[in-house]
Formats: sequence, structure tokens, C-alpha cells
Amino acid sequence: MRFEYDEFKIIENGFEKKDFRLSESIMSIGNEYMGMRGNFEEKYSGDSHKGIYLGGIWFPDKTRVGWWKNGYPEYFGKMINSPNFIGLDVKIDGEYIDLYKDEVVSFVRELDMKNGVLNRYFTIRKNNKNFEMRVQRFVSIDTKEICAINYEVKAIDSKAFIEFFPYIDADIVNEDSNYEEKFWEVLDKNADENNGYILSKTIPNEFGIDRFSICNYMISNFEGKLNKSKICNKYVECSFSKNIEKGEVAKIEKIVAVTTSRDYEENELVEVARDIAQKNAYYGYEKLYDNHSRKWRERWDKADVVIKNNPKLQQGIRYNIFQLFSTYYGEDLRLNIGPKGFTGEKYGGATYWDTEAYIIPMYLSVAPQEVTKNLLLYRYNQLEEAYHNAKQQGLKGALYPMVTFTGVECHNEWEITFEEIHRNGAIAYAIYNYVNYTGDYDYITDYGIDVLVGISRFWADRVHYNNRKKCYMIHGVTGPNEYENNVNNNWYTNLIAVWTLEYTISIIRKISDYKMAEKLKRLEISLDEINKWQGIIDNIYLPYDDELGIFVQHDTFLDKEIIKVEELDKSILPLNQNWSWDRILRSCFIKQADVLQGIYLFNDKYTFEEKKKNYEFYEPLTVHESSLSACIHSILACEIGLEDKAVNMYERTSRLDLDNYNNDTQDGLHITSMSGSWLSIVQGFAGMRTYDEKLSFKPLVPKGWNGYSFNINYRGRLINVDTTNESVKFTLKSGKPIFIEVYDEKFDLKNEAIIGLR
Ligand code: BGC
Repeated sequence: MRFEYDEFKIIENGFEKKDFRLSESIMSIGNEYMGMRGNFEEKYSGDSHKGIYLGGIWFPDKTRVGWWKNGYPEYFGKMINSPNFIGLDVKIDGEYIDLYKDEVVSFVRELDMKNGVLNRYFTIRKNNKNFEMRVQRFVSIDTKEICAINYEVKAIDSKAFIEFFPYIDADIVNEDSNYEEKFWEVLDKNADENNGYILSKTIPNEFGIDRFSICNYMISNFEGKLNKSKICNKYVECSFSKNIEKGEVAKIEKIVAVTTSRDYEENELVEVARDIAQKNAYYGYEKLYDNHSRKWRERWDKADVVIKNNPKLQQGIRYNIFQLFSTYYGEDLRLNIGPKGFTGEKYGGATYWDTEAYIIPMYLSVAPQEVTKNLLLYRYNQLEEAYHNAKQQGLKGALYPMVTFTGVECHNEWEITFEEIHRNGAIAYAIYNYVNYTGDYDYITDYGIDVLVGISRFWADRVHYNNRKKCYMIHGVTGPNEYENNVNNNWYTNLIAVWTLEYTISIIRKISDYKMAEKLKRLEISLDEINKWQGIIDNIYLPYDDELGIFVQHDTFLDKEIIKVEELDKSILPLNQNWSWDRILRSCFIKQADVLQGIYLFNDKYTFEEKKKNYEFYEPLTVHESSLSACIHSILACEIGLEDKAVNMYERTSRLDLDNYNNDTQDGLHITSMSGSWLSIVQGFAGMRTYDEKLSFKPLVPKGWNGYSFNINYRGRLINVDTTNESVKFTLKSGKPIFIEVYDEKFDLKNEAIIGLR
């Protein structure tokens, strides 16, 4: 086992050169503003994926190829690797430390999630002398621009000459780049005594997208000799040295401030970074650590989920919460949540439907209401770009992108960009979800209606009327299951399309105040248009099979050769790493919840029987090769009484990266599916639902578990839910009394209510 079970830490005990990138992904840290993989500060000449990323900093790369067609996005937006500012080379008696080559006597790398820091403790033997190292690093959640490193070398059995070389290197390549291009040019640089900086700027692009500039300013605190610094090309380095006796420690603190043109004018960047670095270096590492770690502990007090007496599962869910909060805590309204956060480059873009479908349902309960509202406003602010995207496809209305930084589609696979249009429904659904959960109806009249109308107009244009069968259809789509493309009448897509139309009409009819009337006038909504939408709702085709009693994934799904995943030889899994794409597309194997995604979203609309039949048909065909899959299945399995399956799917979702289920964690973590473990506990095992102005629960504690507990925010209250093997206790920690429903019975929750499990 690579990582030990521990309730609040991820511990890698022993030095493993193999799958080094896996550990680098797992040990990532971040503070929403920036983040990085668990790379070493000092030289490492073995295989490694160096990655440091800054929120909202990206590059529009070329997509134009010979087979470029109308409607394809102009560019592919990618997260770019930032200049390396964590670098700190170390020499002992004139020789660089390089753990790939050195004799490593002992090694521990540890992510301390309670305090939000990455530690390394290791011993190396160099020229028959032993040295003990302690290295700690964090990106501050107290001062977002600060990254702090503390590096100590102790001579165990004899004296030694230690040199430290903290540096900044802007000569950086991306792993996931098409052209091996470098994305940074250096505008200014300097290094002097204990400080140095580089001001860099993204290279020009041909798409008229603003270039970003950033400044990395480092200051080191060191007691010892200051040597001559080095400045060359795209690199600056300071140099320090010290003779230490046996048992003595040489220690350096590297404090880096990172400023970007997202917050300041380019000509201010160096000065502001210098000020921030100076102030924080003056405070010193320890004080910065205290301020940072205290804030992490406060975060945990609010949002921790406890799985009692089960370090393995406890670790899984805390890891997910830790990585999610490291990626997005709702402090910068301009940011969103990319699938890999700050842990890798694959996928590109910053915003996917993942946010609306998977993150918002969790953040509604764990973050202040404004955080979710801001995530909705992010899309509202990109409505114009959504109209642009639809226009690119020759369609009316608003089409939210599958992948974006700015609202304009920036992903270049046609089967995703053109066809995976179900994402548009998720944006509408999130508005419904937010309003339903918070009761903030003003959101609809102020902002939501504009988005709903835009999306509805898109659907109304994208459907076509089939005169032969006398119904509306949607052809040529990719559903949530990306293991099939260009299918006709994907049940989920058709469903979410008509649901959007229905919801928009219901809102227009329900809210008839002055503000709404003004809005509708401005949006030029006519009765004719509403009637047209109603016609689509009444006549949409939703594939159903009478014999099996299931919703059919798409028109020809049941004509495939139907084989269950358990009948496959395990060695060909994951399919996406063993089968040709062609073979996958023709097979019946499902990447992630598709029909079941619809049943999950509109959970109150389907009967127990419907849920069970569809689950029993589709789950056995599902390979769960999207990280977004297991949680939906865990939640539905709970509902239909498949407890073992629910637990199995929960483990898979909560330990997806820690146990590398899909054999791809080396590329980066699956950030957007990390809310899945929270959803599985709260909506799955605790059965929380919030329909019709009512908060309800149906808690279940799986066999072998000793209970779990969590907090939720709900309409101005903070409620703790704590289960044991016998009972569930609800505690109103703050806010006014509220009626809740538990196992369909109503309770007035004033302080505390204890109810036996059923
Ligand atoms: C999934 C998509 C998802 C994307 C980013 C893909 O593997 O199939 O549904 O949006 O990953 O997480």
C-alpha cells in the first residue's frame, strides 16, 4: 500500500521512484489562488511532472488543423504551468542533493490536511555521512499570494558544508502542450543578496486574448553566509552557505510572493510582490504557518465529515474535502473549478458542467450561500458568450460551453463541443437547485431568468419535429456517457431539454411581479414562443422500453450486444487504456451515469420501482471510468436498498485518487468528482433531500460502520447530523427552529432531536 491510512494525513512511508508522478499528484496543495503538485524543492533527476498553476492564468493554444471545420472553437484554452518558484537546490560538501541518485536511508512524505501543509522527513547518506532533512511547504490561506518553504539539513555524524540555492525559473514547459512550446517570456528580473524576482508574461497569441503577467518575488531568511547571486536568461538564484558541526542544523526559509495582472497593473506587479514578500519574510515562517494552519482548522470545524472508527474511509472523505477547498473556497468570484484543479494540465479549461452538476449540490450545504450564488453569477456573466457559442453552431439561444475560461467554448473535440449539449441543461438545473435549496427567489428575477430563457431558446431550436412519428427529437448528441458519440435521442439530453423548458415556463407563470414583467419585455418573450415551448414539452420523444420497463439510453442502445462488465476479463479494464476508441464506441459499456444521472437529478419524479429497474439494468453495464460516476450510483443504490453496492461505490468515489482506481491519478487529481463522497454520505447514506420547501432525511448506517456525522447550512441554520448504529441525532447549532422530516415523519427541530434508525 502506497499511502498509509490515517484520519488526517496522507503518509507515504519509504522512497518509491516508481510511479513517482502518482505521489506528486496525491501530495498537491493549493489555496484557490494558486497550487502545485507535490514536487520536491531540490533537484530530482528521475521522472517527475513539475506543475505549479495559478487560478485564472491560461493560454489560448492553436486548434487549427487541416481538417478544421466551421463551428470548431478557435482555440484550445489550457492551464499553463507557471514559472517554478518553489525551487531550492541544496549542496552538501559541494555535491547537489538528488534523491534519484543519492542513497536514501529513510523517507516520509506527508500531507497534513488538518494544517494544510506538505512535509518531508528523510535521511540520506552522502560520502559515508548521514544527513537528516525536514522540509515543509504551504500556500497560505491567510495571505493568498504567499508560498512559504522551510528547509532544514542536520548533520548526524560529522561536520559538513551546506549550501542552499533558492531560485525562480521561468523557462518552463507544459506536459500537455501540442507544440512543446514555452508560454512565458521574461520582462524583468533581478537577484540581490537574499532576494530575487522574475516578472514574466505569457507569449503573444493570435486570438486577441489578454496576455497575463505575473511576478514571483522570493526572499530568504538564513543565518549564515550570503554568496553571490546568479541571473541568467529566464532564471534567478540566490546563494547561501554554512559550515555545520555534527548534530547542528542549517535552516533556510524561502518566502515567495506571487502577484498577477488579474489583480494589479503590470507595472505595479514587482513592487506589490516585493512589499508582500518583505512583510511576510519579516514575520518569519513560523508566524505565517500559525496564521495559515489556524484558518485550516477553522475550515474543518465548519465542514468536517466524520466517519467513525474507520481511518480508511475517514481519510478518503477528508482528502476530498481538503483538495476541493484547496481548489475553490469561493473567495475569488472570477474563478471556477477545473477538473484537475492545481494538480495537472490534462483536460484544459477551467469550467465544466461538473461545477453545476457535482460541486454546487455540496457547496450549497457547506459554504455560505453567496459562494453558490457567485458560481451561478459566473455563468450569468458569461451569457453573451453562451449566445456566441450557439451562433457558432448556427443555433439560436445560449449554449454554455463544455470547457471554458471566458464563457467561449475552448475545447476542440467535435464530439464534445458540438454534441455534448446536455451540459446546457445542468446550468439551468443549478439555478433551480440553488433556489429550491436557499429560497432565494429574487435570484430568478434578477439574473436566473435571463439564463433560463437563453438556454430554453437553444433547446427550442436544437430539437426537430419528426413528422412521421409526430414528436420532437434531438439527434446527433453525446450524452453524459462519453463512450458513445453522435447518438440520437439520448434520454437524458431530451429529458433535461424539456425540463428546462418546463421550468422556465413555470417560473414565468409563477413570478408575475413588476420586475419580472420588465425582464420578459426586455427578453422579448411572446405568448407564441411560450406556446411553441409547450408544444415541445407535450410532444417530446423520450425513449422507453415496455418489455424491460426502462428508459432507453438512446435510440439504438438496446440493439447493441449487451454484456455485463463482470463478464469481462479484468485485465482489459480500464477499457479506455486497453481498447481502441472505435471498439469502445460500439460497445454497450457505459462510462458514467447517463439515464441514472437523470433519475438522480429528478429524484422526486420517479418511483422506487422505476429507480430499481433502471439501476439494475444500467449499473452492471457501467465501467465507472469517469470519476463522476461512482457517487451517483452510490446514492441511488442507497435508495433502492443495495447497501453493499452503495458502500462499494462510496469507497470508490472517496478513495478514487488515493487508491488510483482508474489508473490515471498520475496526471492529476479528479477534483470535480471529490464532492461525490460528500454527496454519497449526505444524500446517499443520510438520504437528505430538499424538495417542495422541505428538508428531509432517511438515514442508514451501513453494516460494519459505527456511524458518521456532518454539518449542513440550510436557510440560515447550521444543523449537525450525527448517526450511530442505533440512532440519528439532529442538533440545531444556530438559526431559527425548523421543521424537518425524518423517515417521512415531521419534527420541529428546536435544539436537538434523537430518532432511532429504521
Ligand atoms: C467526463 C465528463 C466531465 C469531464 C471533466 C470526463 O471524463 O466524462 O462528464 O465533464 O471528464 O471532469
